[in-house]
Amino acid sequence: MLKNNLQELQQQATPFYVYDLNLLRQTLQYAATEAAKYNYHVHYALKANANAPILAEMLHTGFGADCVSGNEVKRAIENGFKPEHVVFAGVGKSDEEINYALEQDIFCFNCESSHELEVLNELATAKGTKARVALRINPNVNANTHKYITTGLEENKFGINAWELESVLELLKTLPNIELIGIHFHIGSQITDLSVFRNLCTRVNEFQEWFISRNITLEHINVGGGLGVDYYTPDSNLIPDFEAYFGLFHQFLEVRPGQQVHFELGRALVAQCGTLISKVLYIKKGITTNFAILDAGMTELIRPALYQSYHKIENLTSDKPEVRYDVVGPICESSDCFGKAVMLPETNRGDLVAIRTAGAYGEVMASGYNLREKANAIYL
Ligand SMILES: *Cc1c(COP(=O)(O)O)cnc(C)c1O
Repeated sequence: MLKNNLQELQQQATPFYVYDLNLLRQTLQYAATEAAKYNYHVHYALKANANAPILAEMLHTGFGADCVSGNEVKRAIENGFKPEHVVFAGVGKSDEEINYALEQDIFCFNCESSHELEVLNELATAKGTKARVALRINPNVNANTHKYITTGLEENKFGINAWELESVLELLKTLPNIELIGIHFHIGSQITDLSVFRNLCTRVNEFQEWFISRNITLEHINVGGGLGVDYYTPDSNLIPDFEAYFGLFHQFLEVRPGQQVHFELGRALVAQCGTLISKVLYIKKGITTNFAILDAGMTELIRPALYQSYHKIENLTSDKPEVRYDVVGPICESSDCFGKAVMLPETNRGDLVAIRTAGAYGEVMASGYNLREKANAIYL
């Protein structure tokens, strides 16, 4: 895709993001078709990428919005998502954010602590309204992913731990402006081992039994997101295996009559459609390796610096024999490195370099450190 559009790419000021909307549409269609087989609802996790053209595709596909801040709720609604298709999670929702979401009458607050429930009840009472709530439960399931993107272990800050649930139910009896409609889970991100989701299903089934034994019926089960993508060989796996993913939940998740099942996918929907394009500024000889110094850095894509993430790097404009490089950015941090010992065709000043699989948690995490300007985005 990139090499076919080289002329257009070469006309842009670097660095910039390029999004392949055709790939995005194919990915969304496939996900929607597989989810529809079981009447599953998908909410797109805006925090992966909140650009308007991306949101338009999500809306067109019929997905709802999963938000983790008041501004994300606002962005979703401004881009056409109906409030009844918006869910709002996060361990630290501010009063302003809660009030805004209450005014919009969003579908559901995913609540992460008893303290939050108390505050939400107070704010809903003040507005003379009721808040629909799903309890975000921490199921203590190991996602086997990088520790910074693991969220479902008791040591993590997310969700309500199992041993607190009894007291939360007692508390809920005293909170008249909270309506409990379901339970919510999200155990981490970039999960490529599907057996992790099977473990999640087992835990969700156990929690359901627990609620049923207390005569509580839950209309909504939200199992979160987290499905991973192939960062190593993107071209052989541009679209994740949604058939296997949703099929696994269908096989292992026990769904009661009348219950609705919700998913919150982010990365799996948008990662592969985005690429960061950068120009080579300098080649510098090191002791053991050459440095290829790019005009993009951790300010445009922080994942390698933050999570030691791998991104495939390609030189789009050279077809010379391969040489080994450390591919680095211009930012004054040694962690500002996109890849060590990367084999690339001999690279020279002015070459265009593509950093692949950057559609999720790329542009949204951009910063202005070193007073950098925000990179542009184009859509093909
Ligand atoms: C980040 C997040 C998601 C999406 O995670 P992905 O790994 O991108 O699918 C879903 N739900 C919640 C609550 C999140 O915080």
